[in-house]
Amino acid sequence: MSSNANELAFALDYSEGRAAFLEHASAAGATISTYPLPGQGASDTELFIDYAYLGATPPKILTIVTSGVHGVETPAGGVLQRLWLAEFADHLPPDAGVLFVHALNPFGYANGHRTNENNVDLNRNALAAFPGPRNAAYRPLDGWLNPTGMWKGNDAFYFGLLARAFWYGPAKLQQAIAGGQYEFPRGLFYGGNQTEVSLTIFERVLSQPALATAKSVLHLDLHTGLGDYGEYKILVDLTQRDPRFVELQNHFGANQVASDHSDDATFYAASGLLPEITARIFPHARLSAAVVEFGTYSSLTVLRALRRDNCARHHGCQSKELKESIQRDMRETFCPSDPVWRRRVIESGQQLGPQIIHHMRCALT
Ligand SMILES: [Zn+2]
Repeated sequence: MSSNANELAFALDYSEGRAAFLEHASAAGATISTYPLPGQGASDTELFIDYAYLGATPPKILTIVTSGVHGVETPAGGVLQRLWLAEFADHLPPDAGVLFVHALNPFGYANGHRTNENNVDLNRNALAAFPGPRNAAYRPLDGWLNPTGMWKGNDAFYFGLLARAFWYGPAKLQQAIAGGQYEFPRGLFYGGNQTEVSLTIFERVLSQPALATAKSVLHLDLHTGLGDYGEYKILVDLTQRDPRFVELQNHFGANQVASDHSDDATFYAASGLLPEITARIFPHARLSAAVVEFGTYSSLTVLRALRRDNCARHHGCQSKELKESIQRDMRETFCPSDPVWRRRVIESGQQLGPQIIHHMRCALT
């Protein structure tokens, strides 16, 4: 490996993570571009979305690797991007290119939130038209999911969850909560009422004429927080019979690739996912898009952290200490400090790197 453990430190801090990405991109000889995120009143740090391109221009085979669409999840995605920048620099097949887009939600990264500066979940915002689909099952959950008073500490979250899980069934409850909603702007999993700036920037990056030649496109969108602790899954919006699903299983392993259409209650269908943009920009390419999820804590722990962070953000917090502990907890929930978890992420990345290269090698042959 050309990257040692120090170079692959998980950066919880936005500025550190950004600097590390730019440094690795530059060392890999990538072409780098930067987009400032305009109008950041709530943050003292200037915020940018950066991208780095490696390989053939123009490419016939394109891999897109995005990180941090959910801001607080950026540290692990950033580490994988740096790892692959170093690894791919000398190993790309001819006609192939890789586009790394870093920190699509820099506000969330800088402030420890899942959503962006407008409380929009960018991974529910990539719709072709607004308003988004109605999620009728979310409405009765709003009062419990999104309390409106100042956050004073733990409330009866687990009791409330248990009652609702009993009423709905766990899979239906998860779908109702996390599938996305377009009605409650201060609520969890809010998908917005227009395309957010981050996604307009992403569209612009993908639409550059130099990439239009791509005939085969693989988009991997990196996330943390869903699935078994330290394990990863490649989740695709394809049925198990789709030839592209079978092909992904052949390249990345049958145990790692899972379909959104399966009965596995861990995962759920959602509207406005980021790869929908990729599909619109490359309508004629053979596209395989996947959300790569690295599991951290249980979905109950994750929801509990999201809920209190959201409440404290919109309605205030009883004390500064409590607010700081909520932020620490958010970062821990989506990037465990446990060295074993972090090593697993790096090992998974080392396993995925050659598989991605092999996938590009086989494309169009
Ligand atoms: Zn995510």
